[in-house]
Amino acid sequence: IDSFNCKYHIVSQEDVNLPRRSRNTHKGDYGKLLIIAGSKNMTGAAALCAMSAIKTGCGIVKLAVPKTIQPILQESLKEIITYGVDDKDGAFYIGSVEEVLDLSKTVDAVAIGPGLSNSVDVKAFVKEIILRIDKPIVLDADALNVLSDMVDIIYGKDIILTPHMGEMSRLLGISIDDINKNIYDTVEKFVDKYKVTLVLKGSRTVIGSNTEGIYINCTGNPGMATAGSGDVLTGMISSFLVQGLTSIKAAVYGVFYHGKAGDLAADKYGEYGVTATNIIEHIPYAIKL
Ligand code: AMP
Ligand code: MG
Repeated sequence: IDSFNCKYHIVSQEDVNLPRRSRNTHKGDYGKLLIIAGSKNMTGAAALCAMSAIKTGCGIVKLAVPKTIQPILQESLKEIITYGVDDKDGAFYIGSVEEVLDLSKTVDAVAIGPGLSNSVDVKAFVKEIILRIDKPIVLDADALNVLSDMVDIIYGKDIILTPHMGEMSRLLGISIDDINKNIYDTVEKFVDKYKVTLVLKGSRTVIGSNTEGIYINCTGNPGMATAGSGDVLTGMISSFLVQGLTSIKAAVYGVFYHGKAGDLAADKYGEYGVTATNIIEHIPYAIKL
């Protein structure tokens, strides 16, 4: 990526080669991530995101969830440290903020969004977290949905946003058709305006940053159009981020390897049968050196 100097770049395997790990290392060298996710009917989004992050190589994943759902997640996620945060109706609310901010002080970056649910309480929570957190943030799913009438709060922050077309349309207040008419322009204008990194997901995901140009990804397949697929991507990008990659690299590497893992999953199960869990299962083979 360092050598990219044209405005649009199609990402290929040579762009995303990861170094071998040096022998004398320990988990502290591979970063700590906090994922803020889940609500009473969406435990799976939190679990998928956390497992994707750990399978992508970061050292420690901490998962903050509404306390109502913490016991079930702790039971099934053996490699993840879960924290049950004070909640309201099984979702985060303004009263969850201080606990989550304290947790954020112990990590290198934060991912927020998968399965939060979309309510005024969640919105107040997300707003406060974005305004007060002092770490790089990956914003996805419901964290984007609640953002639509207050997008300005992201300006200039160390943030990667990962909307799909529907979420992007809500963020911008324009139709999906209008975005599709000029995808690259939309990405470029957004990152220039807000000075952030944007991952606009689709069959050809486009990644942009105000300083690093525009990247087009070609891995992936229609088998990945399945529930939870995006939660896997969020875990992967966040994992690369805490392992020390820059925001643009974490986004590009995450999108490329997510698609490659999806391609391996489709080779095995066919496009009709791929699930988000199958994508996670293939992350190690996609990345393996
Ligand atoms: P989400 O809608 O948040 O679950 O995200 C879906 C993920 O799957 C994104 O990373 C998309 O880029 C990817 N995806 C969905 N459909 C396709 C497709 N037809 N080809 C390639 N990737 C896809
Ligand atoms: Mg999603």
